[in-house]
Amino acid sequence: MNVYLDTVGCRLNQSEIETLARRFRAAGHTVVPSAAEADLCVVNTCAVTGEAERSSRSVIRRIHRDNPGARIVATGCYAHLSPERVTALPGVARIVNNLDKDRLVSLVNGAAIPAEPFDLEPLLREPGNGALGRTRAFVKVQDGCDNRCTFCVTTIARGSNRCRPADDIVREIQALAAAGYQEAVLTGVHLGSYGHDHGERDGLLHLVQSILAQTDVPRLRLSSLEPWDLSPRFFELWANARLCRHLHLPLQSGCDATLRRMARRTDQASFRALVGAARAAIPDLALSTDIIAGFPGETDAEFEASTAFVREMDFMKLHVFRYSARKGTAAARMPSQVPARVRKERSARLLALSDEGARRFFARFAGRDMPVLWEQVTGASEAGFRNTGLTDNYIRVEMDAPAALTNTITRVRLVEVTGQGMRAVIAPAAW
Ligand code: SF4
Repeated sequence: MNVYLDTVGCRLNQSEIETLARRFRAAGHTVVPSAAEADLCVVNTCAVTGEAERSSRSVIRRIHRDNPGARIVATGCYAHLSPERVTALPGVARIVNNLDKDRLVSLVNGAAIPAEPFDLEPLLREPGNGALGRTRAFVKVQDGCDNRCTFCVTTIARGSNRCRPADDIVREIQALAAAGYQEAVLTGVHLGSYGHDHGERDGLLHLVQSILAQTDVPRLRLSSLEPWDLSPRFFELWANARLCRHLHLPLQSGCDATLRRMARRTDQASFRALVGAARAAIPDLALSTDIIAGFPGETDAEFEASTAFVREMDFMKLHVFRYSARKGTAAARMPSQVPARVRKERSARLLALSDEGARRFFARFAGRDMPVLWEQVTGASEAGFRNTGLTDNYIRVEMDAPAALTNTITRVRLVEVTGQGMRAVIAPAAW
């Protein structure tokens, strides 16, 4: 059977869809690059905002338009939380809720799923650019969260914290490296709580140490980490240059009063201390964050306090979410919901701050030589190929070169800031 896989939302959804690709292949199916060629289409949906739900619906509608005869299976947070709405979409034959996602392959076609929870065989059989043609692989290490942030629907959709065994994760990353992946990205709903389900407070620190010691993967990156649960020793891990110098620490608001209403376990003082410790230990660190614009009760004064703190933290990038009430959350029931017009204005101001922060960060690296993992060729150039990739500290780089460099890491000279990143030339030492 030909299977097409698509996803909306976070890196966790991406890692799950890559795992599903491997499982379908292990069960003898063919994963195809377009819905038009597929008998079955699986969509991993997202419900983090109203916008994410709209995107999930539009992906399903597009698939049905491209191939009205294909069966569509919807899974993920939106399908889990709103099964009636998703079932009503054209072409949707079945919903698989988040709790059954690990059994999706057997549920949809009755085939036996592999005995191993994360089957590695297709990776070993198909070396090179991995599942879905990527040079970096997203590796899910835990699911769920034990916090109850008042805006968050994720805990309702994904349940409490549960973690994969470290040996299992190390084995997967060994196989990814053997298959040619250059970078593994550890993902989870609440990555910092890795090991807490077994009472291990420093679980993530020990996991990263094991991966660095027991695998050859050239780069290891951590995805979003809630800005708590990290011990003072945590940043010592970056003494190993294979660990990418990029931290995404979701702040959500820079105002203490708003943070209290959000039930976040951080405030200005502790976040400032955490960032100070990270920057002292990790030179050239790229720091990004999430900010919600227009959380219920956010006054003009609170918003100004938040933006002042965001400026002070000097983030390289802000992921700005215009607040949208999520059914079943405490924030949706709060009085003083902020009018849509104000949320939009605040969001625009935050996005402008994000652009300023990015340009400031990129400019620091003009004239510097940095290694880049090349992800793809975006077109032709006079020199031959236009390559695009990422530095370990998350600068998007474009370089014209006589060769397609995809899935290699080369040292280049960053020469100038462009719209969303930097332009590079081959570093003189490499000629
Ligand atoms: S810590 Fe993150 S995943 Fe957990 S409830 Fe808060 S926002 Fe949601």
